[in-house]
Amino acid sequence: MSFNTQVTRVPRIGTGWDSHEFKPGIPLRIGGVLLPHDSGLAGHSDGDVLLHALTDALLGAVAAGDIGSYFPPSDPKWKGADSAVFVGEALQQIAAKGYTVGNVDCTLVLAAPKIGPHAKAIQENVAKLLGVKAEQIGIKAKTPEGTGTDNAAIAQVVVLLVEIVWP
Ligand SMILES: [Zn+2]
Repeated sequence: MSFNTQVTRVPRIGTGWDSHEFKPGIPLRIGGVLLPHDSGLAGHSDGDVLLHALTDALLGAVAAGDIGSYFPPSDPKWKGADSAVFVGEALQQIAAKGYTVGNVDCTLVLAAPKIGPHAKAIQENVAKLLGVKAEQIGIKAKTPEGTGTDNAAIAQVVVLLVEIVWP
């Protein structure tokens, strides 16, 4: 068995999970994309369940805590905040440890709205936030069959981080 000795940092994997409850009459943002729907996601910041799970996956991959340790939900400063800020902080944390994003795979679980028509826009926006190509981001969606969570949106995200290779 042999290893490439030029690689000084092994790839690292991270996982993130989040859920938010739907609330009528507020905007719905998933992956930083505004989706047409009669209700949005309540809770921390703008309620962007996907970006929160992504932030946790990035932080988890370098064992750098979780979203709540950087942006406590009790701090009114983060009420209504753009969740892209959290992703930006997580990116700084991984870069500080010499890593960049290899690929990301996301699963959304929600009864409505249908994600299919918006999946490409979400994929492209998440790629933009991470500074990677769209092909490095997987966006999948399922309905919550039998889980009784029709009034919530759930996101599960897995990331693979690879060593930054300076040109
Ligand atoms: Zn959240």
